[in-house]
Amino acid sequence: MEAALDTPMPAIENEQLSVDSPQNDGAAPAGNDAPERVSSNVQRIVRSSQVKDAVKRWHSNRCQACGLTIETPGGTYSEGAHVQALGRPHNGPDRTDNILCLCPNCHVKLDTGAIVIEDDLTVIENGVPAGSLRTHPRHTLSLECLRSHRERWRR
Ligand SMILES: [Zn+2]
Repeated sequence: MEAALDTPMPAIENEQLSVDSPQNDGAAPAGNDAPERVSSNVQRIVRSSQVKDAVKRWHSNRCQACGLTIETPGGTYSEGAHVQALGRPHNGPDRTDNILCLCPNCHVKLDTGAIVIEDDLTVIENGVPAGSLRTHPRHTLSLECLRSHRERWRR
């Protein structure tokens, strides 16, 4: 049986994505030896790890977009990526037909619109066809979710 790492990953779709901006002076920021801790009260969506785990298991942790399997000392690693984001205003479903098994790089690409998926499962990377999404007989995908994701990132 594949041993998937169970490290909770940050919910990328709910965070501001940082855009690399060049610093003028080139000096390294001072940083902080003892970063402060703050308490916060957040509302978070309760995601089912069983749903993600099923998708990752079907694909044996192999990225559906680029084919990469990441080997770690603890086993192979992949991420369950929601196609239509769960957060508002997208309100995607937490179902296997809205989840892809992706490597971390392709997960970021999906969440930033660098890749979108056509109805015929062609992966479009920055406007250029980049191959077909890998499939598994038990893993059907929601065309509605794929379309919603494409609409969100249409340029
Ligand atoms: Zn990948």
